[in-house]
Amino acid sequence: MARLSLKDIDKKYDNGFEAVKKLSLEIHDKEFLVLVGPSGCGKSTTLRMIAGLEDISAGELSIGDTVVNDVEPKDRDIAMVFQNYALYPHMSVFDNMAFGLKLRKTPKSEITERVEAAARILEIEELLQRKPKQLSGGQRQRVALGRAIVRDPKVFLMDEPLSNLDAKLRVQMRAEISKLHKKLNTTFIYVTHDQTEAMTMGDRIVVMNSGLVQQVASPQEIYDNPSNVFVAKFIGSPQMNFISGRVSGTAKGSLQIEFDGGSFSPCKKNQDILKSNGCCSKEVLIGIRPEDMRICSDGENPIMDATVEVTEHLGSETYVYANSKAGSIVFRTKPDVKVLIGDEHGIHFDIEKIHIFDPETENKIL
Ligand code: ATP
Repeated sequence: MARLSLKDIDKKYDNGFEAVKKLSLEIHDKEFLVLVGPSGCGKSTTLRMIAGLEDISAGELSIGDTVVNDVEPKDRDIAMVFQNYALYPHMSVFDNMAFGLKLRKTPKSEITERVEAAARILEIEELLQRKPKQLSGGQRQRVALGRAIVRDPKVFLMDEPLSNLDAKLRVQMRAEISKLHKKLNTTFIYVTHDQTEAMTMGDRIVVMNSGLVQQVASPQEIYDNPSNVFVAKFIGSPQMNFISGRVSGTAKGSLQIEFDGGSFSPCKKNQDILKSNGCCSKEVLIGIRPEDMRICSDGENPIMDATVEVTEHLGSETYVYANSKAGSIVFRTKPDVKVLIGDEHGIHFDIEKIHIFDPETENKIL
């Protein structure tokens, strides 16, 4: 069983820097788990502790039912694919892929069988006699994956394996690695700083910041219900709009949210959540995804007004960057909607889709 359990894991480097703090995580058998976060948040350190390449300062790491804190990397039944591929330049692709097996004194015939099988899976059979410098970036990436596959490990660890590829190849390899996960049917733990990779590849995503886990959930859950402002800003491109506002009661007993240049009444469900959280008179941070804001249709009452500053035409959709009394906003329109720079438009939100955060703790209220 390739189930991993991390309990209250800390990593303090020799210089006293705490790179990972009290990290607890259950990684399911055969899961594709993505660790994502900005540079320096501790994701590579976490992966390297799982691999056994870094000591764990405190806490317990188990693979299956075995605590492996003190187990040598080579005895953990884990294979790691690095960002720079770490291929040996003087060796052929075959020898690069066979290297780990030779070290383990695997019989020659079995080595050949395993390398050929991995090459078939990765469709690099015709490259086995080439040297790494005779390969494209994408092919090198496959060889690095091949070297991990031949070992038939319980767990694959991948540290930004696509970051050296150009944008187009990255998209292609993203799909290849997802397919590989299905083919191999084993546990993958994948580190990236790219939220699109995390969203498209992970069964679950762990969002980290400053050594701390911010949220662990499925990509959709993270997108729809970010647990705090950091996650809401990190996941989604263009990022969620944030507007400072204030909840107040109306004479009729319902709640209203006001902000510079506008106001709206939350839907009944959200009114109830705000009331039960004691937010009847409170400063809040309103979060609205760009796709949940739009230009008002004729006769519709706007929630706010905004003046168009920049438009970004992507073919299938257009992003409009605009200025409002509440600050800069970005929203999405269909490409056939005519939006001219300098025009002022009434803007409407999808009220049911708004997010509300506490401006002090930055945690989600709804
Ligand atoms: P990146 O995406 O840039 O690789 P990361 O999230 O993977 O970032 P880590 O490599 O895990 O980040 O590093 C986490 C923090 O620990 C960083 O602030 C880094 O400078 C620090 N760090 C890493 N290795 C050491 C070390 N050997 N000694 C001291 N500090 C270290």
